[in-house]
Amino acid sequence: MSGIRPTGFLHLGNYFGALRNYVRMQDEYNCYFMVADLHSLTTHPDTKELKANVERVLSENIASGLDPDKVALYCQSHIRETTELYLYLNMMAYKGELEKTTTFKDKARQQPDNVNAGLLTYPVLQAADIILHKATLVPVGKDQEQHLEMARTFANRFNHRYGNVFPEPQAFNFGSELVKVPSLDGAGKMSKSENQYATIYLSDDDELIRKKVMKAKTDSGPTEPNTPKPDYITNIFGLMQLVSQPDVIRKFEEDYDQCRIRYGDMKKQLAEDMVTFITPIRRRADEIRNDGAYLKKVMEQGAEKASQSARATMAEVRQAIGLNYY
Ligand code: ADP
Repeated sequence: MSGIRPTGFLHLGNYFGALRNYVRMQDEYNCYFMVADLHSLTTHPDTKELKANVERVLSENIASGLDPDKVALYCQSHIRETTELYLYLNMMAYKGELEKTTTFKDKARQQPDNVNAGLLTYPVLQAADIILHKATLVPVGKDQEQHLEMARTFANRFNHRYGNVFPEPQAFNFGSELVKVPSLDGAGKMSKSENQYATIYLSDDDELIRKKVMKAKTDSGPTEPNTPKPDYITNIFGLMQLVSQPDVIRKFEEDYDQCRIRYGDMKKQLAEDMVTFITPIRRRADEIRNDGAYLKKVMEQGAEKASQSARATMAEVRQAIGLNYY
């Protein structure tokens, strides 16, 4: 089980941290993937663009290879049971631990005039989304590690207080480590909302991708063999690992080690490999986004599958809590 907020355009971080794993999981596991529209209200209370953004996230999920016939692909707000479980879990989440969450502190700093209770309890709603389907594996990027730890805490607390209902969810990646896709300016991660010129979006056209990559920070190159790479150069090699062929990467690694690297050439290569990777996804997503009837069918079908699992879990939850008077 996993989700992505409809707060803007999806980017390479979302793709390699989350979507790529969703696609690989769909043949092996019973999967629930959602558009986290309720979560987006904690930071984006203006809903003028919500519908368009929900449709964009759905389209980009499908264009990246997710098959709505294999998985439950749905909108968070269509599953009313989530809000009920969120309420029960809120009685087990403590103000102190929620206030200590890194993402809460970051967002409170970013929007000091809107430090709402939903922002504080964001990890509680996320835990509800996950354990509602008794999910054990949660494909996410590295930035979500702390939230997953909290989801385990809430699941265990519930089990301890009311009896064993929930398995422990774990963050999941097909590689050995969770992924963090760095931003092109060498500072922080690619993100939907911040740093738009240092983030490559799945909707960027070829020219924009080239422009962004060519602007990535570099220097005049090492002067002594086997010099350790500065962070911003490590990031460029890291991005190459995601989209370029192994022999291409090997060539630039050797050039670096032998002090003959030309970063202009390296960025040109990276830009072309990104264009090759993104163009088919962008084209397919555009086609899907323009097919409203198909998207409606996808949402209905997803809600139906997710509701079935949600209803079964909530019957057990109410029973365990003792909310069964007749
Ligand atoms: P954003 O941070 O862009 O608003 P979300 O919070 O909706 O994105 O995250 C959706 C998924 O994408 C999560 O699983 C998150 O871990 C992953 N993700 C987001 N940014 C990155 C990144 N730069 N590197 C790796 N994974 C990322």
